[in-house]
Amino acid sequence: MSPRTCALCATNKAMLKRPKTGQQICRDCFFYVFETEVHNTITQSSLFKPGDRVAIGASGGKDSTVLAYVMKTLNERYQYGLDLFLLSIDEGITGYRDDSLETVKRNQQQYSMPLKILSYDELYGWTMDAIVAQVGKKNNCTFCGVFRRQALDRGATVLGVDHIVTGHNADDIAETVLMNIMRGDIARLGRCTAICTQGEDTIKRSKPFKYAYEKEIVMYAYFKKLDYFSTECIYSPDAYRGHARVFLKDLEAARPSAIIDIIHSGEAFEVREEVKATQKVQQTCKRCGYMSSNDLCKACTLLEGLERGMANSGITDRARKKLDAEGPAPENIRTIPFYNPPSSTLVIAVEATNDGKPSTS
Ligand code: SF4
Ligand code: ZN
Ligand code: ZN
Repeated sequence: MSPRTCALCATNKAMLKRPKTGQQICRDCFFYVFETEVHNTITQSSLFKPGDRVAIGASGGKDSTVLAYVMKTLNERYQYGLDLFLLSIDEGITGYRDDSLETVKRNQQQYSMPLKILSYDELYGWTMDAIVAQVGKKNNCTFCGVFRRQALDRGATVLGVDHIVTGHNADDIAETVLMNIMRGDIARLGRCTAICTQGEDTIKRSKPFKYAYEKEIVMYAYFKKLDYFSTECIYSPDAYRGHARVFLKDLEAARPSAIIDIIHSGEAFEVREEVKATQKVQQTCKRCGYMSSNDLCKACTLLEGLERGMANSGITDRARKKLDAEGPAPENIRTIPFYNPPSSTLVIAVEATNDGKPSTS
C-alpha cells in the first residue's frame, strides 16, 4: 500500500495523525495549523496590542516551553510588536524545580528572552520542601497554588510587564470545567473558560493555548526537538484533578472532540445573577497589600498558619477558630513584603481587557 499523502497539502507524505481532528498530515502542515490556531485564538480575543510587555510563565515543562517558542514565532511572523520575557517561580522543590529551572535557563539562551526567577523562599521565607515537612503531602498543592499565583503577579511587577501568559491547555480547561461541575461550584464554572482574566489590581493573564490539545503540544515539542523537562512534581498533585484527568482521557479516547466540546459547553453556560453575587467584593490585604476578598489575603493566612505552627488554620474553619482562640498574631511574625500594584501598567492593561472576567482556577 502506498504511503498516504498529507490531507492538507496533498503533496508531502503524511507523518502523523492529528489528535484533535484525526487528519493524517505532514510535519510542516502540522506546525502550520497548530501555530495558526494559536494565532487565531490570540487575534479573535484581541489578547495583545503593539508595545505590550508580556511575561511567559515558564516552568521548563512542555506547555510553557512550547508556549515560549510559539509566542516568539508568532510575534516575529505576524509582527505583534510584543516585548517577551520569561518569568519562573522557584517553589523550592529539590530534585524537581531546581532541575526544571536549568531547562528554563537554557530556553532563555535559545529564545533570547530576559528571564526573572522569583523564589518562595525569598518572598515567603518558606520553600515547598519546608512546607511539606510541616503539612505533609495532603494540602501541599493548596499552599503551592496560592503562593504561586501571588508570586507570578509580584514577579511580573518587577519586570514591569502588562500581561502574563500561561501554558494552560485545552485539557486543563476541560478538566476544570468538569471539576467545577462535580463540585457544584457554579460561580467558578461560569468564569473558568474565560481566556483572559484580570482582577482589579492584578496583572492581566491569559491562556493562548486554551484550544490546544495536550497531545498536540507534546507532538509539537517532539517534532521541533524543543528542550523541555518532563518529570512530574515529586509532591503528589491534586487528587481530585487526577480523577477528572483520567475521566477526560477516557472520554477523549472514545471521541477526540470531547475536550473541545466540554470547553464550548462551559463557555455557553449562563450563570444566574444571584449565583454570581456569591462572589465576595475585592479589597486589599491589610498585611501585604495584595488583592483579597477578606481582611487578609489567602497567602498571608497560610503563611501565618505556617509561622505559628498550625498550618491547617489556612485550610479549615475549625483550625482557624483554634488559632484565633490563641489570640492575635505576634507583632514580629514574618510577613510578605508589601505589594504595590503597578498603577501605570494597570491603566494600560484595563484598556486592553477584552472581557473583564475574573480569574479562574
Ligand atoms: Fe506545587 Fe502541587 Fe504542582 Fe507540586 S504538584 S508544583 S506541590 S502545585
Ligand atoms: Zn502537508
Ligand atoms: Zn496578604
